Amino acid sequence: MEIEFYGATRRVTGSCHILRAAGYTVLLDCGLVQGSREMEALNREPFPFDPATIDAVVLSHGHIDHSGRLPHLVNLGFRGTIHTHHTTIELCRILLKDSASLAENDARYRQRHGEPDAEPLYTVEEAMRCVRQMKGLRYGERLEFLPGISVTLGDAGHILGSAFVRLEITEGALTRTLVFSGDLGQFDSPILNDPEALGSADVLLVESTYGDRLHKDFESTVAEIGQIIETSCRDCGNILFPSFSIGRSQELLYLFGQHYEEWGLDKWAVFLDSPMAIEASRIYWHHEELWDHEARLFRHNLRRMPPIDNLHLTGRVEESMAINGMKQGAIIIAGSGMCNGGRIIHHLKHNIERPECHIIISGFQAEGTLGRELVERGKEVWLHGRRYRVRAQLHTIGGLSAHGDRSDLVRWLKSREGTPKVMIVHGEEGAKESFRGFLHGELSLDALIPKPGDRLDLKTSTLYPADDDIVHENHKK
Ligand SMILES: [Zn+2]
Repeated sequence: MEIEFYGATRRVTGSCHILRAAGYTVLLDCGLVQGSREMEALNREPFPFDPATIDAVVLSHGHIDHSGRLPHLVNLGFRGTIHTHHTTIELCRILLKDSASLAENDARYRQRHGEPDAEPLYTVEEAMRCVRQMKGLRYGERLEFLPGISVTLGDAGHILGSAFVRLEITEGALTRTLVFSGDLGQFDSPILNDPEALGSADVLLVESTYGDRLHKDFESTVAEIGQIIETSCRDCGNILFPSFSIGRSQELLYLFGQHYEEWGLDKWAVFLDSPMAIEASRIYWHHEELWDHEARLFRHNLRRMPPIDNLHLTGRVEESMAINGMKQGAIIIAGSGMCNGGRIIHHLKHNIERPECHIIISGFQAEGTLGRELVERGKEVWLHGRRYRVRAQLHTIGGLSAHGDRSDLVRWLKSREGTPKVMIVHGEEGAKESFRGFLHGELSLDALIPKPGDRLDLKTSTLYPADDDIVHENHKK
C-alpha cells in the first residue's frame, strides 16, 4: 500500500501520482507538462511504468495539466477505466480535442519546416477514444471501482466538475484514507460552490500553487473592472479581455450580468470570441445543479443564462473577423488567456496601438508568453511577425484566480478531521516551502515535500526517498 510521486512534484504542470494497493495500480491524474518546447518534449518520455499494467485512473478535473497525457497513456496500452466527475467528461471532450488539434497543427508545421518525422503526441481521434474510457461519477457518490479501493469525489470549487479525490483502501484488516486535493478553488467565487469540507484523511496530498501568497480581495477586483469599463466608455475605445476558455470566461459573463446597469453595459457589444469558450459556456449554463446558491437565485430572477442580452457568440472565423471593423464599444473576450496564441492576437493587432483601447489581463501569465511581456510593460511587441507599439492602456487585475490562495487552502485544511500526514504537491519550489512553514506554524501540521520517485508507505505514513538510479529523466529539473 503505497503512493509514488511522479509528476507535478517539482512544477505546477503535469500532475500524476501512482497508487499501488490491494494488488492494483491506479493513477491519480495524468497531466501534460506545459511550458517551453523543451519542457513539453518531456511528455514524450516513457512513463516509469508500463501503461498496460495500470488498472484504473482517477481524474480530479479537466484542465490539461491534469488530464492532457491520458490519450497518450491510452495509445501506449492503457485499457482500464478513467473515473471522474461526469461534467469533467464533457469538458474533456472539448479540452482534449483542442489539445490534440493544436498538436496536429504543430506537427504539420514542423513537417513543413525541416522535421519530416514530426508527429503529434496524439490525434483528435485518439483523444476521443480516450474520452470513451471515462466513466462519470457525481459528487459524494462512493464507488468501489476495484476490490478494496473505493473513490468518492468532493466538490473542489475550481472549475465545473473539479473534485478532490477521497480513496478508501483496504488491505486485510487495515483501511486507510487518502485524499488528493486536485486543484482547489477560491471560497466565495462566482457561480461555483465553495470547496466542500475535507473530512477525515490519513494521508493528504495538497496542491500549493498559491501556497505562498494572498490574492487581491475579490470585491475590489470587481470594482476595478467596473472602473475600467467606465473609463473606456469615456475614451471611446474597445476593451480586450484575454481569457481562459473554461472558468474565467464564464465568470466574466456572470459578473457582467450582475453589474449590467451599474457598469453601463447596455452601451457595449460583448463578444465571446472563442469556439472553445462558447462550448464550455453551454456546459456551464446547463449544469445549474452544480452552481452555488447565489448563481441559482440569479438565474431564477432573470430566467436566463448567460445573463446579458448584448452578448455575441462568435464561433465562426468570419464572425470573429467582423469584430475588427469596430473601433469603439466592443468588449472582446478571447483566448488564449496568456496571449500566446488564439484569436486574441488578431484583436491585439487591431487595438494595441490605439491609446483609447484597454487591455485587461486577469490571470497568471507564465514566463515567455506575450501576456507576461505586456504585464511587464513592454513598449513594443511582435504579433504575427510585425512589430507593434503598445499604446493601449493596460490593466492587470488580481482576484479572479481559479486557484485558492494560501488563506483558501488553510480554510479547507481546517475542515479536516484528525491529523493527516500532509504531502505538498503541485506548486513551484518557493510556494511549497513557504506553505510548509505556514502549515507548521499556523496549524501545527507536519508536512513533507516529496521529490519525484519518492514513495510514501500508506500503512506507516513513512516517506522513502527515491532510488537515484531509477529516477526517471522526467523528474530532473
Ligand atoms: Zn486546474
